[in-house]
Amino acid sequence: MDSNQIKKKARKLGANLVGIASVDRFSDAPEGFKPRGIYADAESVIVYAKRVPVTILSAQSAIPCTFVNNLMTTAVDNLSIQLSLWLEDNGIGTVMIPSDDPYEHWEPERSYGRAILSLRHAGLLAGLGFLGRNTLLINEKYGNMIQLGALLVNRELEPDPVIEGECPEDCRLCIENCPPHALDGKTVKQRLCRPLSNHINEKGYTIKKCNICRSICPLALGIR
Ligand code: SF4
Ligand code: SF4
Repeated sequence: MDSNQIKKKARKLGANLVGIASVDRFSDAPEGFKPRGIYADAESVIVYAKRVPVTILSAQSAIPCTFVNNLMTTAVDNLSIQLSLWLEDNGIGTVMIPSDDPYEHWEPERSYGRAILSLRHAGLLAGLGFLGRNTLLINEKYGNMIQLGALLVNRELEPDPVIEGECPEDCRLCIENCPPHALDGKTVKQRLCRPLSNHINEKGYTIKKCNICRSICPLALGIR
């Protein structure tokens, strides 16, 4: 089983993008959030993404965005489990990383949550794109309209080259238009962002009330 066969299978299962990173590329990840902290036998990380329907950015209501986000998360998690089962059937051990929730690390004083593995950084290290000043992964073809997932595998696979990309030098649109000024070009202050991006309404639903940093980006739909 080689990298190309695995990528072919991931695409057959619905992935629009697939890349591979070796675990040694994660040396800069915080302690406790590296692949081998999750799966001691991990040798490689397979990172993939499904494209998100782009017209959703034109919706005036937050409900369709929330709905699509939930559907995309489930779709990528379903892809993960199918790929994981197929790899296991072919003798490769895998551990799935959730496309979104759940996670354990939570700092209530600054409303800060950290996923067990940052999928955006995993995507960067697997050659799927680069990180914009809005902190989102930007892919050449699909921009930031992608939903990411990953599998840790106990097999050394051929890694993909990391993409050398960056935002246009003079662009600050995401930083300047974030309503609560949560972006500084490198990180997002979750305490400020969360009340809008994960707004809990009176009914108890979590609603994506803001995606300005995604929609306003001139690279949102890819690099043209
Ligand atoms: S989702 Fe909205 S509040 Fe959060 S960083 Fe982006 S623009 Fe700012
Ligand atoms: S809006 Fe501009 S600065 Fe922000 S991520 Fe997009 S290209 Fe980069």
